[in-house]
Formats: sequence, structure tokens, C-alpha cells
Amino acid sequence: MDKILNCVGGDFVDSDQTIVTHNPSDLSEVVGEYAEADETLAAQAIDAARSALDEWAWSGPQQRFDILDGAGARLLAQRAELGALLAREEGKTLPEAIGEVARAAMVFKFFAGEALRPGGELLPSVRPGMTVEVTREPVGVVGLITPWNFPVAIPAWKIAAALACGNTIVLKPSEVAPGCSFALARVLREAGLPAGVLNVVLGQGAVVGQALAASAQVDAISFTGSVATGHAIRAQCAGNGTRLQLEMGGKNPLVVLDDADLGAAVENAINGSFFQTGQRCTASSRLIVERGIHDAFLAAMRERMAQLRVGHALDPATQIGPVVNQRQLASHQRYLQAAREDGAEVWGGEVLTRPTRGHFMEPALVLKAAASSAINREEVFGPVASVLKADDYGHALALANDTEFGLSAGICTASLKQAQHFRRHSRSGLVMVNTPTAGLDYHVPFGGRKHSSHGPREQGSYAREFYSVVKTAYINP
Ligand code: NAD
Repeated sequence: MDKILNCVGGDFVDSDQTIVTHNPSDLSEVVGEYAEADETLAAQAIDAARSALDEWAWSGPQQRFDILDGAGARLLAQRAELGALLAREEGKTLPEAIGEVARAAMVFKFFAGEALRPGGELLPSVRPGMTVEVTREPVGVVGLITPWNFPVAIPAWKIAAALACGNTIVLKPSEVAPGCSFALARVLREAGLPAGVLNVVLGQGAVVGQALAASAQVDAISFTGSVATGHAIRAQCAGNGTRLQLEMGGKNPLVVLDDADLGAAVENAINGSFFQTGQRCTASSRLIVERGIHDAFLAAMRERMAQLRVGHALDPATQIGPVVNQRQLASHQRYLQAAREDGAEVWGGEVLTRPTRGHFMEPALVLKAAASSAINREEVFGPVASVLKADDYGHALALANDTEFGLSAGICTASLKQAQHFRRHSRSGLVMVNTPTAGLDYHVPFGGRKHSSHGPREQGSYAREFYSVVKTAYINP
């Protein structure tokens, strides 16, 4: 197997250290071997991005459109191949993985269009004879630090927005599933992106990620990952005044009211809680169910959960792939054990054996856990959901908002009045009515509140708030 090398200034750079990834569906399979960067290489990558900045910042909209659109077309054409790589390295099922690559392709196509629409305003000045021009300029060198759970889509939506706005990039993908980030860099290179505009360095977060966050030569950092890492990065960036965007965890509620369509509510809960192995920041981890429908909902969930097929990500029969690694699997088991010890009941959650050795786990539903318990307050980030019984809609809304997080919140109801009230009063960045808490469009803003997010929104035309700076010019002819 060829070792995959870091990309710095258009060169492929090796190192003495290697990061090896294994297939979580079959631990006997090595998926990739990657050259591991250190602080020195991270600094070289930042220099390379700085050197490429002037030319890219002044590139025209047509060039940016062509490259971004071309990357999107290439990703679409290669979605089966890249989807298989993603499924092998991260463990989501093949259809989920192909869907993620296709989404990344559409993100590039969307931002190709955005490159043609930089915006701006021409206004009369309040001073006679003068005009005011409001324009946008690139921020400069941006550092992108990304997690393992969407290793194509998240780098894609950061890279595409950054490039459309004329920035140059150092990307530090997750060391858990880096393969697709290098594939993205290759696709952009093939689409004509000049050398040095996108640099990719792989390494440990505490080494390479920290080197990016601490560098005074990086103008902005966009990070997606856990709250703990996000807060550490915030402290690093504060000293340099680095522009910062953090997208972090969730403890997302799905409220099911008595008047909901039971079958649809159960499908929304199954999808939001367990698909993609529950490894989504928008996953429904708290199912808040009104008293009148509670028992019927639980019975239907039990029946539906028994039908879910957990297995190898490339097996066409599989609906739920493995957990990404042993560390996450052990963490999920600890959460379930703690819930049992606190008096909760747990359905499912067993570690499963399959013909190949992998991190397979049955989806778990936790019942009767106190709203204050860890399982209801901390992000588990796996196929685990907890059910909370609500006395009425008001109680359900209060439970939904009773969290340090505020990413996505859903409601299942036939009442437009309740749905609208929930939309207005949910303290979250995303509200989902009669649809799962996870599963998003690619052309609209994305982000949360409270500990889930910091800084401007990602995606859609709102992404330019982070990736550009506004200049106001007064012209006295
Ligand atoms: P993580 O915080 O462990 O790692 C994320 C990235 O940060 C990795 O590239 C890692 O190497 C790097 N990193 C780690 N320590 C660092 C440091 N000290 N300085 C700089 N970089 C460092 O998160 P993860 O386990 O990869 O991903 C799971 C988390 O991501 C979950 O909490 C999930 O909710 C969150 N997530 C959020 C969103 C969102 O958009 N809100 C989307 C996907 C995932």
C-alpha cells in the first residue's frame, strides 16, 4: 500500500511517522497509511498558504467558479469509489457514504455559484457628491480543523466556502479518518486549483491542530469537533485575535406530542437516533414523549429497533454500520452501565459479534433516566437515545431547552400552532418539524447556540460572514 503524503505548497511531503487506519467493520483490513506531520511541517504549510494568498485573493470569479464546479463534477463522478473509501475508513454504510460524497459535490457546486455572487453595495453618501462602496475581501490564510464523522462533507463545506471567498487554506483533518480529505485535495488539484492554495497536513490534534490554532500567521480558524477541543482552541486563538468559528456537539431533543402520527414519529426517531450509527452532531439523543402517546411509542420503537440490521458497512443488507473505534465503543458502554447503575432501564446496547471482527453495537434505548443524569446531559455520540416522559407540551418544551447545547431540535405533531410555538421558543440553531433532527440541505445556513456553536453560521450564503471581511470605501470624485 502506498503511503499517502501531506500536501504542502503543491509538493507531497513524507515524514518518519506514519498513521495507519483500520476498517471498523473488519479490523484485519488496513485502509490507509499516512505521513504524520509535526509542528514544523504545519508551519511550512501555513507559509505555503501565505505565499499563495495574493494570487488566489485576486483570482477572478470565473476561475473560482470553474475550479469549484469542476471539483463538484469530479466528486459526483467518483462518488461510488470515494464512498467505498469513506465506508471502509469511518464505518458508515455504503449508501450513507455515497450520499455524503454526493452532498460534498453539491456543496462545491453551490459555492461555485457563490463565487459569482460576491455581493457588495453602492450607496449615496450623506455628504453631497460622494458615494460609498461596501465590498468583501478574503480574510487571508484560514486553518480548518475537522472531525472524523463527516470526513468528506465537513472539509468540503469549509474548503468550498473559503475558496469561493478567495482565502488560502491549511486543512488538518481528523487522524481517525483522513483518507477522504486527501482525496478531496487531489480532486481540487485535478480541477485546476493552483499549488499552495489548499495544503493538507495530517497529525495529532494536540500537535498539528494546536500549531494551527496557536499561529499568529493564521488569520482565521474554522473548527468542527467536540466542545472540549473547541474551548481549548478558543483559548489559543484569543491571544492572537484570530477570527474563530466553532461547530461542536449536541444533545438534540425530538419531542413527540400526543397528536403526532405514531408511525412517522417512530421513523423520525429511528433515523435521527440510530442512522449513521448515531454519530451525528444533530442526532436525536433525547426523545421527549408526551404522556398520552408514550407507551404506544415505546412499543413501536421496540418493534422497529428489533428489525434494524447492524453489520459490515459494505454489506448491502446493513442499515447500521459499526462504531468508529474501540475508544468510542467503550465510552458508549460506560454511559449505558452508568445509566443502569442510576436505576434506568436499557433496551439493546449489546456489543455484537459478526463474521468480521469490528466495533458492532446494537442500538440502545434508555428509559426512566433522570433528566439530570449524564445520559441526558452529555453527548454520547453513538447509537444511544434516552426517552423522557413529558406531562404536556409545555413540559416537553422545557425539557427540550434544558441542555447546555442548542444545535438541532425536532417536534412531531399534527398541530401547526404547537409546531410554530416550538419553532419560536426552541433555543436551538435548527428546528425540525415532522422530520428527523439530522439530515440537512446544503444551501442554507447551519449552526447552533449555547455550547454547540460559536461565531457566524456555516454553509449557504451566510458562510461568507466568516470567510470574508467587509470594506467600506468613501469615494469623493
Ligand atoms: P475532536 O474534538 O476530538 O477532534 C476534532 C478535530 O480537532 C480533530 O481533527 C482533532 O485532531 C483536532 N484536535 C484535537 N485536539 C486539538 C487541539 N488541542 N488543538 C487543535 N485541534 C485539536 O472531535 P471528534 O471526536 O473528531 O468529532 C466528534 C465531535 O465533533 C462530536 O462532539 C460532534 O458533535 C462534533 N461534531 C460537530 C458538528 C457540528 O457541525 N456542530 C459536526 C460533526 C461533528
